[in-house]
Amino acid sequence: MAKPSLQTIESSGVVGAGGAGFPTHVKLKAKADVVILNAAECEPLLHKDKEMLRAFPDEVLAGLAAAAELVGAREAVVGIKHKYHDVIDLLRPKLAPNMRIAELSDSYPAGDEFILVYDVTGRIIPPGKIPLAVGAVVTNVETAYNVARCEPVTRKFLTIAGAVHNPVTVRVPVGVTFREAISLAGGPNVPDPVLLVGGVMMGRFSDNFDEPITKTTGGLIVLPRDHKLAQRYTLPWKSIARIGASACDQCSFCTEYCPRYLLGHPIEPHKAMRSLVFSMAGEANTIGTQFCCECNLCTMMACPEDLDPKNVCTQNKRRILKEGNRWEVEANPTRASLHMANRRVPIGRLVRKLGLSRFENKGPLIDDHLSASRVVLPLKQHVGAPAEPTVKVGDTVEAGDVIAKPPAGQLGAVLHASIAGRVVGVSDAVVIEKS
Ligand code: SF4
Ligand code: SF4
Repeated sequence: MAKPSLQTIESSGVVGAGGAGFPTHVKLKAKADVVILNAAECEPLLHKDKEMLRAFPDEVLAGLAAAAELVGAREAVVGIKHKYHDVIDLLRPKLAPNMRIAELSDSYPAGDEFILVYDVTGRIIPPGKIPLAVGAVVTNVETAYNVARCEPVTRKFLTIAGAVHNPVTVRVPVGVTFREAISLAGGPNVPDPVLLVGGVMMGRFSDNFDEPITKTTGGLIVLPRDHKLAQRYTLPWKSIARIGASACDQCSFCTEYCPRYLLGHPIEPHKAMRSLVFSMAGEANTIGTQFCCECNLCTMMACPEDLDPKNVCTQNKRRILKEGNRWEVEANPTRASLHMANRRVPIGRLVRKLGLSRFENKGPLIDDHLSASRVVLPLKQHVGAPAEPTVKVGDTVEAGDVIAKPPAGQLGAVLHASIAGRVVGVSDAVVIEKS
């Protein structure tokens, strides 16, 4: 393998593959003393990171080592759940002298960057800041793999789970449809399927099976339309606010479970719920909501009344951000030392509460055998400005050719053709059909 550099990472179009899509060459320009590989993968039913580590341990560790070297870290840590002892046994003999494994509990949200950094280093990232504030950089497993390869990112790993015939983890060309990817799992096994894209806790609802897979699609969970999670994701905001204002009994379980509150951050979702009653606009108004990480634990697990404090917090958080308001505040470290160790939500209990026990909780990696005849490649698959097309309709491209670049001087990522063929469309996406 070639030696990764900021230049190879940038020209390969590597972005955070865990869902955020932050350009990796920008992230790794920073200086930190520890790099953490986020292999916690705490979203129920998703298995991509574990499967990648099992199939490509050398590549992922090489990407981690490169990231550590680039940021000048003295230590690289693999954060992985202790229950994956077979993967841990596989990795341990391959670790470089500056690497170690941090075994994590099988809880949610173990993969939240703030929780991960706390579990691995004992450091509390201040509210509203990023891991760099405490000298840490966190990288996703697939991102590390892409860093090591030094090749254009044209393939995506993802788990297909839920109401499908054979849950699997697959590698598909970026830009194929959800429908094509799901066909590799034998297709849906319910008559009226819908999707949670990216995970059941922090994903989004879709019933458009023709959407394209992007560089950040980590998983597709197929569910019957009448599943309680599908219904929860489609409840309109006005109903959420109206029911919340009338039914919240202020028990504060949502706050007591909130991982950011437990870390000492000043977020108390029960206060956001309370503020609904006092708001003329029918919206929450509590400044601490800006520190909500949208983990959904308060809504999906904590609330005994089936209310939706997460959406109440995020609705308020978005308005605060739009208004340009910002609260600089320190965390309360005492709360973390008192509660973080023993107030974790076990994944098994969460799966039962979510009504997912009937789905097979596995996703073995199968060989890439999807031959795409058409791909749709959105120009914005990353944080920053949309990439600008460098091709036009009628052009012929090879897989790996550059088809779009970020505007000069702006944050963004290069986009490559994921299949060979002819460009048949250029708008907010480049469409390529096999010739
Ligand atoms: S979604 Fe709920 S539990 Fe999660 S950080 Fe936000 S308020 Fe806390
Ligand atoms: S857990 Fe539910 S009922 Fe209790 S305070 Fe929070 S939103 Fe209200």
